Amino acid sequence: MSAPPSNANEECVGPQSETAGKAASCAGCPNAKVCASGELNKPNPEALAVQETMNNIGRTLLVLSGKGGVGKSTFASQLAFSLARRNKRVGLLDLDICGPSVPLMLGLQGQEVHQSSSGWSPVYVDVEGGGDECELGVMSIGFLMPDPDGAVIWRGPRKNGLIQQFLTNVDWGELDYLVVDTPPGTSDEHISIVQLLKASLKKGDGAIVITTPQEVAMMDVRKELNFCKQTNIPVIGLVENMATMRLAADSLTFCDKQGNSVDMDALREKCPEIFNLDVSLSVFPQSGPGPRGMAEKFNVPFLGSLPLDSHLQRATETGKPVAQGNAHGEFERIIDSII
Ligand code: ADP
Repeated sequence: MSAPPSNANEECVGPQSETAGKAASCAGCPNAKVCASGELNKPNPEALAVQETMNNIGRTLLVLSGKGGVGKSTFASQLAFSLARRNKRVGLLDLDICGPSVPLMLGLQGQEVHQSSSGWSPVYVDVEGGGDECELGVMSIGFLMPDPDGAVIWRGPRKNGLIQQFLTNVDWGELDYLVVDTPPGTSDEHISIVQLLKASLKKGDGAIVITTPQEVAMMDVRKELNFCKQTNIPVIGLVENMATMRLAADSLTFCDKQGNSVDMDALREKCPEIFNLDVSLSVFPQSGPGPRGMAEKFNVPFLGSLPLDSHLQRATETGKPVAQGNAHGEFERIIDSII
């Protein structure tokens, strides 16, 4: 099955639809003729090769977002850690080829890929808090780059070729879960990933979509959800990230309306009970019905809301699983519901 071509009309019904190329919304689309011919729906040999590699993989979880910076790689990395800590055999495939952050988020910077007779060997992580059975193998384009600060300046065909290699040439062995971190948006690379992976998806596989509550992020995430709908990728659920934040009042400093610091000792003496409380705030006040409303509108499960949390941020920057803080409990609850 094919994803919509990148130059398709906005209301594309998808090349696999019975009305592909013939629906009213196809009028004027440059792909109408080829869609109507059914050509885009033929099984593609590269997708068949991917299918062969994916035979030993239990469940495939694609982590998607319409927008960069919403926490997609953070979620994918922590999801992989959390599944491994539950004694699962996990692979994490970083296909975010222009901005691979997985090596940093898994504490694997500077590692290289090794070639074996059966393909590229993943880099294995020693998972803090993981049991004997746990296994976490990682593959990222970041391992192929000599300079982590170097820009990936590749054009479409080369990027698509690389994605194909990552999907067919990694020797994962037997896995319970493969977590795939994808590029943001619905770019050409993204379409290639879906085209190549689609035929390999089994029951229970699908996409976890990450968003923040601002309209600027949600408008792109709606496109992502429509993309999943058009390409028949099941959406396991939507996760809201960084909507709220909770802090101990004791960790705050106060200032007056002019921005001048307040004498904290005097304030503590005047109202000591305040300093035993937590304060919580909406970091990005949501637009309209917010991510929960968006999930309802698209008829996909709302998996939960991860707060902005310095423990989570620090864990990702030091390549560790998050084990405490406000996001930790909610994160584990979300993983429970995914499993
Ligand atoms: P994306 O993959 O969507 O581009 P990242 O996962 O790279 O986004 O996250 C962007 C930044 O936001 C990172 O520095 C990450 O540590 C931070 N971040 C993401 N989610 C949270 C959170 N819930 N709390 C604190 N920091 C977060």
